[in-house]
Amino acid sequence: MRHLCNRFRGRFKAVSFEFDKTDTFCSFASRYKEEIRKISFINETPVNTLISESNSSTSDSTAPTNLTLNRRVNRLEAPLSVDGARLVQSIAKLANIGGLPNGGVERIAFSQADCQARKVVAGWMRDAGMRVHVDPAGNLFGRYPGRYSRVPALATGSHLDTVPNGGHYDGTYGVLAGLEVVRTLADNGQRLDHPVDVIIFADEERTMVGSKAISGNLTHEPGAYLSASGESIESCLSRVGGDWSKRSLARLGPEDIAAFVEVHVEQGPVLEAADTQIGVVTGIVGQRRYVFTVEGHASHAGTTPMPMRQDALVAASQLVLAVNTLGNQPGDHVATVGCMEVSPNVANTIPDRVEFSLDIRDLDNACLDRLMVQLRAEAARIAKETGTKISFVSRLYNQPAPAKTHIQNAIADVCEALSLSHMSLPSRASHDAQELSRVTDMGMIFVPSQAGISHAITEYTAPESCVQGANVLLHTLLSLDQHYRCS
Ligand SMILES: [Zn+2]
Repeated sequence: MRHLCNRFRGRFKAVSFEFDKTDTFCSFASRYKEEIRKISFINETPVNTLISESNSSTSDSTAPTNLTLNRRVNRLEAPLSVDGARLVQSIAKLANIGGLPNGGVERIAFSQADCQARKVVAGWMRDAGMRVHVDPAGNLFGRYPGRYSRVPALATGSHLDTVPNGGHYDGTYGVLAGLEVVRTLADNGQRLDHPVDVIIFADEERTMVGSKAISGNLTHEPGAYLSASGESIESCLSRVGGDWSKRSLARLGPEDIAAFVEVHVEQGPVLEAADTQIGVVTGIVGQRRYVFTVEGHASHAGTTPMPMRQDALVAASQLVLAVNTLGNQPGDHVATVGCMEVSPNVANTIPDRVEFSLDIRDLDNACLDRLMVQLRAEAARIAKETGTKISFVSRLYNQPAPAKTHIQNAIADVCEALSLSHMSLPSRASHDAQELSRVTDMGMIFVPSQAGISHAITEYTAPESCVQGANVLLHTLLSLDQHYRCS
């Protein structure tokens, strides 16, 4: 027994383990349970390895046998874990707010249902010992105090607003997993060195007004943030406790948030197809959107011979196929034409004008630049061959938001420690985390979406996946609490 304690002392000099000669293994372990749990996640050597090593080499006649020791160790080494049933219940309860008869959820940002959901979660935050406030951009913060008060927070969170006819998990899961982490810490009387902030971002689905205000990335034109029902942003924000005129005060920096980690359903099929429990997000892809215009010549569909046509739709179709070919080149990028308007859109008239969208995404800006150079060359070739004119304008330009390597490593290490399978993958959907990456260190954790479905009433993530993701978040925050020193 003494030998075991000495091994602990030797390995973890920062922690003072005091051994009493009347100590049994159990009394020692229970006295230092929290320290040992913490150590087992911040050191490369799992605590059970140390104990096994000590046991096999000890000559202490009072040491338990391997078998009894292992049983005790199994109990001891169970890591701090969230209350899975409570998390799953909270997700189900929130799905009733804005619940649809078809089983889906609709909580459009700033709607009555969205406000009601924010109010309910704010109450749960207060019950967990958090202080709640709303910033001028309508972001709701719950703060669980840390041992140090004048240090930046470790932050997590997501959004409670949904798309029309949405599901139970997109955004909501990230908020409630963050809350569950705090509830778990509170239940165990545990505080981190840093405060923990759980953030409910305002209007993620349409404008990202909340997270853009935090990153200082808002346009100053309020018309850009009209609600889905056409209500002004001034009016929407005042309803949730914000104030558009003071939006610049919502801006935060690394002195406010040391790191932000968002847990989210994948919203794609990759994890499920790979039969993998946790996704370590490498970053949120850059996204560019363009509108292409093809101009030809309208004429009679019967009387105009084929070689004499300038058919805008034929040219546009060739360009759509070129987009698809570029999208299928090796790499992680995706390229999509999702919207097209044909004019005059009449059965017996050759189209003279086609407008279509192009959406391209990749984690690497250079790759996106390369795709656009190739596409421009294809457009020039097609225009020449079809006698049309092809032009395009940019409508959206979002820079890639890479996740910090040390946060990716922390997430992967936690997965290893919890025996959860994991893989690295980019997020090809937008998240509030991309804005937070502009002001602080950012990471994201994905859990699988059944059949990759999201933004639909059939969106589903299994309860065990929700619990696993929350546990990974919990231990990632514990790990980052050590990474960012407070003193
Ligand atoms: Zn989301």
